[in-house]
Parts: sequence; C-alpha cells; structure tokens
Amino acid sequence: RSIRRCAEKCKNGMFLALGTVFLLGSAFCFQAREIQVAQAKERENAMLKKVAITFDDGPNPDYTEQLLDGLKERGVEATFFLLGKEAEKYPDIVERMSREGHLIATHSYEHVNLCNLSDEEAIEQVDKTNDVLYRITGLYPEYIRPPFGCWKCNLDYETQMIEVLWDIDPLDWKTGNASVVAKRVINQVEENDIILLHDASESSVEAAFEIIDSLKEEGYIFV
Ligand code: ZN
Repeated sequence: RSIRRCAEKCKNGMFLALGTVFLLGSAFCFQAREIQVAQAKERENAMLKKVAITFDDGPNPDYTEQLLDGLKERGVEATFFLLGKEAEKYPDIVERMSREGHLIATHSYEHVNLCNLSDEEAIEQVDKTNDVLYRITGLYPEYIRPPFGCWKCNLDYETQMIEVLWDIDPLDWKTGNASVVAKRVINQVEENDIILLHDASESSVEAAFEIIDSLKEEGYIFV
C-alpha cells in the first residue's frame, strides 16, 4: 500500500511540474508576442510623419473640456502648457488631461514675461506652478513654454526645465474664425513641427479639430 501511495504522490508531483512548465511557457509566449506587436507598431510609427499639437494658457473652465472630448474621440494626445494659477482653480480638468495621456507642462504661474523679472521671481513662477501640477498629477513637469517665448538661458540650469517654443503660430487668440486659423496651420505645416494654439476660445477648439482631421488624412500622427 505504501508503494502505491508513493507512486500516487510521484504522479501528482509530475502533473504539478508539467502544469507549471506549461503555464510558464504560455506566459513567455504571450509576452514574446506582445513584444513583437509593440516592435511592429514602433516600426510603423517611425515611418509616419509626426507633428505635435500644443495648447497654452489653460486650463480654461469653458473650453478645455470640450477640447479634451474631441481629442479623445480622435485618439490624439496633445501637450498643455498650463498656468499654475488656473490649474489651482480647476484641478479636475488637469487631472483629466493627465489621466487621458496628454503631456502636462508649465507656462508660468500668472502669465508674466519671465525676462522682466529677477531670477528669483522667475524661478518662483516656475516652481510654484510645478508644485501645483505635482500635487494634482503626481508628476513634476519637465518642459516649460515661457509666456511670450521669453526665457533667460541661465534659467535652464536654475529651474532644471527644458524650454519648448513652437514652429507654427497661427495667432488663434486674435482670430475668431476657426477655418482661417486651421488653414494657416495646414498650409504651413511640415514634418516634426510644433503647432501652437490656445484652449481659450470656441474658434481655437474648432480649429484644432479641423487641423487634426486634415493632418490625419495627410498621414500625420500626433505625438
Ligand atoms: Zn500664453
């Protein structure tokens, strides 16, 4: 009887070992397939034309969510250069941006020309904004677009931020006509350009959607 019990145990042990090998093998195959799919997608993306769409001065309580809805519908990720003062007032909108995969970056705390400030005051504008954004998203921004594009080079070191400007500025903030704004961008755009818009008016949001739909048709992807 004891020999039979021993044989049973051996058999059970063998099944257990085979089962484990099978499970590990399947997990490995699944992972290998996932890597292959990701690599194929990467190769495909590397061949597509890239463009970045960016929005300054938000979050805006009237227009940003409308913009986020349209970006989500189109599967497009954008970059938002935010004002600390506004982010403090509308943290839910910032949290949604972050949750939906958009890149959150810094504009300044209260839209001032940083070149007109002392270094200490400029650093305070950046740090105060970064702290607000960190409290909402759990991440410190790495990029800054200084208001009016004005930035002193030593601030790179002082703030540890990377300055990002733009390639195409359609002056959407002083043009109420979405189609005019969209056309200015579509006519100028080239591969790897950074497009500057503001999520601060109905026409800018509409222009963003026109730009995205048209550039997608031309084979661009948004990064
Ligand atoms: Zn601005």
